[in-house]
Parts: sequence; structure tokens; C-alpha cells
Amino acid sequence: MTVHTGRHFLQIPGPTNVPDRVLRAMDMPTMDHRGPEFAEVGHAVLAAMQRVFRTKQPVIIYPSSGTGAWEAALVNTLQPGDKVLMAETGQFAVLWHGIADKFKLDVDFIPGDWRHGAELEQIEARLLADKAHKIKAVCVVHNETSTGCVTHPQDVRKILDRVNHPALLMVDTISGLGSLEYEHDAWGIDVSVAGSQKGLMLPPGLGFNAISEKALAVAKANPAMRSYWDWQEVIAINKAGTWPYTPATNLLFGLREAVKMLEEEGLENVFARHKRHSAATRAAIRVWGLETQCQEQGAHSPALTGVVMPEGHDADNFRKVVLENFDMSLGTGLNKIKGKVFRIGHIGHFNDLMMMGTLSGVEMGLDLAKVPHRGGGVLAAMEVLKGRDVVAMPKAAVA
Ligand SMILES: *Cc1c(COP(=O)(O)O)cnc(C)c1O
Repeated sequence: MTVHTGRHFLQIPGPTNVPDRVLRAMDMPTMDHRGPEFAEVGHAVLAAMQRVFRTKQPVIIYPSSGTGAWEAALVNTLQPGDKVLMAETGQFAVLWHGIADKFKLDVDFIPGDWRHGAELEQIEARLLADKAHKIKAVCVVHNETSTGCVTHPQDVRKILDRVNHPALLMVDTISGLGSLEYEHDAWGIDVSVAGSQKGLMLPPGLGFNAISEKALAVAKANPAMRSYWDWQEVIAINKAGTWPYTPATNLLFGLREAVKMLEEEGLENVFARHKRHSAATRAAIRVWGLETQCQEQGAHSPALTGVVMPEGHDADNFRKVVLENFDMSLGTGLNKIKGKVFRIGHIGHFNDLMMMGTLSGVEMGLDLAKVPHRGGGVLAAMEVLKGRDVVAMPKAAVA
């Protein structure tokens, strides 16, 4: 049995650390989910999530993982045979594609190398060529958690508007919401998909959809079969602060507290904090002489950083060394980059000294696992966190 002293460092990019305040808020006796006290909670969390998504439109809260909210987005708006455009940004894009396949959607999957955001030129070319408007939806992953690359959904909206294409814009912001800027209404997103266990600092178990007026109208006219995920019924019953089925009551208590924490800090400050930690992490990686998985300027994720292992060194072996020696969990490489990449989560309930502890664990682990690197990455990260310009470091590393 492993003995833990102090706190385990959970530096995977989700599920993330749950603040004590949120744990305490969930530690409540069972409540009548159809009683007056619960309706207050229901109304509060629905309004809170509208503020987090920055929308005046309905938000659905499912007792589900993020995967359920993906499925909900597809089954409400599309029917078998409908064409959708997706972009292979990484493993989560691959998984969303897999669900679309199972519902017999006709997916045009723009290939990618897992080191960049979605290829906007390709999206534009496909939409331009689609004169008959057969493409019913464009689906992108905002923060690709498997690689640490961001696709800016507002850029995709600009393309749709520029080529005057009516397709719905659906965005997986499961690991983006609450850690990266997000504007459901202002960016013209039709369906936003999110989950509780990443930037929202909750345990897994809640899935979210934010839905534009246009997407709601499409859903109303969509004859495809669905039941549990059907938006209409949930929205109708949510008006009374309750759900058509038993909601995940205690997670909702936690959600109310988590959004309170985000708003006490101020969402803008939350986003800035994630960016600082991402910059500090890249500063360390640059000094170590390692490569980030994301190779696109301006697309480095504020929430996590994927690190490429030097040839001949196994990322999972390195992760094992770090776990055994320092009780820290780092994210594994997923699917085709398994063993080649490890991921450092700097998302959610997190601060500067947790960041430094994390990077120290990585640097010591590199040493112990005999991974070739230069020392001093941790010192470079400290300079970034102190707000100083790092003279010895190329600008690109902190950009
Ligand atoms: C975590 C994650 C998912 C999957 O969510 P689950 O809650 O595991 O179903 C999907 N997309 C992204 C971008 C994620 O980070």
C-alpha cells in the first residue's frame, strides 16, 4: 500500500482537484428534488451556468459525463444521413466522430496531426464547396485535452458568416469552460458542450448543453428519435426549477458553490491565471529542452500542456517514476500518442505554488527517469510567475 503524506498532486487535465468549499457544499443530506427548497437550487444553478457560458439562452444540465452532452448535441439537432464537418484535432475529436458514426451521420473528418488546432482553411474550403448546404453542422473541440491545442470557435463562426453557410456551430468546451474565455452568445455558438470535472472544479457527473435559438428551432423540427437527451422536455420542466428525472442533487449543490468561487475570483481573472500557469509551464519546458505537443503559436492551451518525450524514452514509464517518487499523477498520452506524450494539467483549483510543486516534480522525475534534459526549468517558471521577463529565454516560450 502506498502511504500518502500531505496532498496527492493530481495534475491530470481532468478530473481536476475539487476545492474543499465545493466538497463541503456537497456534503448535505438528501433533499426532496421536487420540493420548494430544491427548486431554489435548480433556478440558481441554471442561472449560474448561463453566466458561465455567457448566454441568455437555455442551458441544460444532465446527470451525465461530457460524453452524454456530446450525444445530446447530436441527437437533438441531426438525423441519420445528415452531413457534419469535424476536424481531427486529437483524441476527443476522434471520440466525438465515433459517436456521430454510431448515429449514422455522414462525417467529413478533416485530418490533422494532433499538434495544431482545427485547420480553418480546410473548414472554409469545405463550406465554400458545399453550395447545396448539405453540411448541417460544424463540430469543433475548443480545448483539445489530449494535445493541449486550442481551436478558437469564434474564428469558425467568422468563416460560417463569411461564406454565408447555415450549418450549426457546435463546440466541445468540456475542458475549456471555466478555464478559457468562452462566449456562447457573442461568438455565435449554436450548441456548446461542457462537463463538470474540468474547469468547473467538480467531480465528474454533470454534462451541459447551451443552446442557441437557431439550434432550438432545428431541434423542434427534428423527427429523429431521442428521449433522455431531448431538450424540449427538460427546458419546459426547468422553468419550475426542477427536472423530468432525478437530477444529480448533490453535484448541483457543488456546482452552485463552484460558480460562486469562479465569480468571486472573477472569470477574467480565472482565465488570466490559467494563461500565466501555461506560460510558466512552457518556460520550464523550453529550458528542459523538450518540445510541447502543440506546435501552433497562439494555440497553446491555458489549461494543460502536452510534453513530447525524447525518442527512446517512454512517457508512461516517466509518469510512473513521478507517481512512485512524488505522489503526483500526470496525464497519459492518449491513443496514437500513448507513451510518446505526457500531459501537465494546470486547470481548475490551482495556484502558483501548486504550479511550482508540479514543475519541481516533473524536473526531478526527468532526472530520476534519466530523460535527457537541461536543469533549471523550474527557475525559469519562477521568473514567469514573479512577473519578470526571462532574459535567458527566447520570447516564443512565454508568448
Ligand atoms: C474530458 C473530455 C471529454 C470527455 O468527457 P467525459 O466526461 O469523460 O465523458 C470530451 N472532450 C474533451 C475536450 C474533454 O476534455
